[in-house]
Amino acid sequence: MQRRSIWLAASLLCALWLGSLGIRPASASVEPVTPPSAAEFQAWLDSFKTTAAARGISAATLDRALAGASYITRVIELDRRQPEFTMTFWQYYEKTISDKRIARGRELLKTHAALLNKVEAQYGVPPRFLVAFWGLESNFGDYTGTFPLIGSLATLAFDPRRSKFFSEQLMAALEIIDRGDIPADVKASWAGAMGNTQFIPSTYRAYAIDFDGDGRRDLWRSLPDVFASSAHFLSKSGWRPDETWGREVRLPKGFDFALSGLDKNLKLKEWQARGVRRADGRDLPAVDIDAALILPAGADGPAFLVYGNYKTILVWNRSILYALAVGHLADRLVGKGPLVAKKPSNDKALSRSDMREIQRLLAEKGFDAGGQDGIAGAKTRRAIKGYQAREGLAPDGYPDSRLLDHLRGNGG
Ligand code: CA
Repeated sequence: MQRRSIWLAASLLCALWLGSLGIRPASASVEPVTPPSAAEFQAWLDSFKTTAAARGISAATLDRALAGASYITRVIELDRRQPEFTMTFWQYYEKTISDKRIARGRELLKTHAALLNKVEAQYGVPPRFLVAFWGLESNFGDYTGTFPLIGSLATLAFDPRRSKFFSEQLMAALEIIDRGDIPADVKASWAGAMGNTQFIPSTYRAYAIDFDGDGRRDLWRSLPDVFASSAHFLSKSGWRPDETWGREVRLPKGFDFALSGLDKNLKLKEWQARGVRRADGRDLPAVDIDAALILPAGADGPAFLVYGNYKTILVWNRSILYALAVGHLADRLVGKGPLVAKKPSNDKALSRSDMREIQRLLAEKGFDAGGQDGIAGAKTRRAIKGYQAREGLAPDGYPDSRLLDHLRGNGG
């Protein structure tokens, strides 16, 4: 498979996905895009066509699929857009876990129960998760994209910034068309995420399943294919049939926040021994599995113990907020309640320039934040943890305005 573990692909998918939900940043800077001349783009397409033919894609498919492909300036504008603010956990939660979505998901879970159970029997992924992914990716099929698949991918492959990645995606899309799964003029997201599951073409090529047996893997119009493809992808990515994803928990007073982080795994009984309980105060389950503690809104926000399946959800989309939303929505679909933690009144997103300042100040103080891109990735969070530990702050790795104040020397 074309692994999605590169952050580029992951952040792209996240952007796609937010786009599909109609979530737009309050403000975003867009560089002006100068399109190539028609002749220049056509010359590139011709050369790509030669490579694709050498890879075994039929001339008929190439003629049909590439004939109408033109450069789409809007795709490059969307690709270069840099949101001024990233969402907080609570903003993200409120956008993704609406009452309306929960109610509709519950109905769909009932409507498609027989099919979902059949898919679970074969792949080991429970119905509630399959419906949760479906809801988050395309709002149960409402948003599968309006851009021409081949034109969008050709535009991104032509653009020098991520040409290699998108050239491979274009190749995968052509192979899918060539084997007769989908028509050449199919519509997708601006970056080529496809169908109800919003699979990128390389994932589609590797994991899509023809579950209804009509000979085509159709993630637009066949729900049997949609659910089986999701389940197959998850199963191959390490899904454990007998475990859930994790749960919200309650931490004891004086908890050592240095234990938090996806890379720190303890047995459930060890978390229990350290005073961690279910969010309602009951004991943790007495099962012998590893769990990591994550704090998506910092030490003062909700805490979650997450299991192996949470990490499998991260293979689908590397965003920790996305993976929490999938798990929580799946729980809500089968009647579990909302989070016990409550949104604080001062919940506010840091701007990208605030994040850059945090990264710059961390570097000045000797903590390697991995550059100043204004995005709180794993390296930045580790640097924050190191700084917090040295300064005697709760080492939760969470960037907020208090941390920025402290770094600026205003925090005591
Ligand atoms: Ca089919």
